[in-house]
Amino acid sequence: MAGKLYLVATPIGNLGDISHRAAQTLESVDFIAAEDTRVSVKILNNLGIKKPMVSYHEHNRASSGERIINRLLAGESCALVTDAGTPVISDPGSDLVTLCAEAGVEVTSIPGPCAAINALILSGLPSGRFTFEGFLSTTKKNRLQHLDELKGEKRTMIFYEAPHKLTSTLNDMLAAWGDRRISLCRELTKLHEEVSRTTLSQACEFYESNAPRGEYVLVIEGAAEETGDTVTLEQAVEKVRELINGGMKLRDAVKFVSNETKISKNQLYDAAVKAE
Ligand code: SAM
Repeated sequence: MAGKLYLVATPIGNLGDISHRAAQTLESVDFIAAEDTRVSVKILNNLGIKKPMVSYHEHNRASSGERIINRLLAGESCALVTDAGTPVISDPGSDLVTLCAEAGVEVTSIPGPCAAINALILSGLPSGRFTFEGFLSTTKKNRLQHLDELKGEKRTMIFYEAPHKLTSTLNDMLAAWGDRRISLCRELTKLHEEVSRTTLSQACEFYESNAPRGEYVLVIEGAAEETGDTVTLEQAVEKVRELINGGMKLRDAVKFVSNETKISKNQLYDAAVKAE
């Protein structure tokens, strides 16, 4: 009988975030496929687990994937881990899941940390509907095309970004979409965790004179609803309430929504107070 592939989420910074089930699974499988065995061995050492490991990463996924599948078909069980967080999410793994599905090998997940979801829940931005955009391309043309495609996107957007590209990404976003609210979430779960809830223009200004450090997730407000007649006073009040729930002061929220909808500040303020 074929073995099983376990997709095991590991911490994104704080080793204490490894789950009980993740530890049990790493202990019980026949072997572990890791994006970088040197990184994952630290987690195993921390748990006191010794286990045979193979490497499975972006550049060997075809050859390594085939070897892993053959072992699974021969009845062994395997845990797939990446350098941090949830396998498959901007990390290797999706090809292996596809191979398993095609070969009839069972796949299950041991859920845990994921930087995108962690950032979204901390962002203070609407979380009812969102889109995960991963990393922008390193090619300028493709980056700008990606941003242009998202111009009318109304859902909250989540991006991963490396510190050395942060400033140019923020400037490209501001140029493509105009000013928006953004939450820059850095070093999540680590000692210097920080969530900066600001606007694109303010973030561009800040990083002109402050070098970005650490790992970032950017959570950005979607495009505003159509302005004018299409937004009712009731909808505008709802938007004010969302902003307040996200940590904004009433006056600032009213000003922001009034600018977006062209509904008068006084009218909106009175309606928002009445609705409280
Ligand atoms: N699979 C991982 C997950 O589940 O989040 C993501 C891997 S992706 C290669 C790495 C990117 O995730 C980083 O460049 C950064 O954007 C984000 N990231 C990972 N850990 C983070 C952390 N502790 N704080 C902020 N962002 C983080």
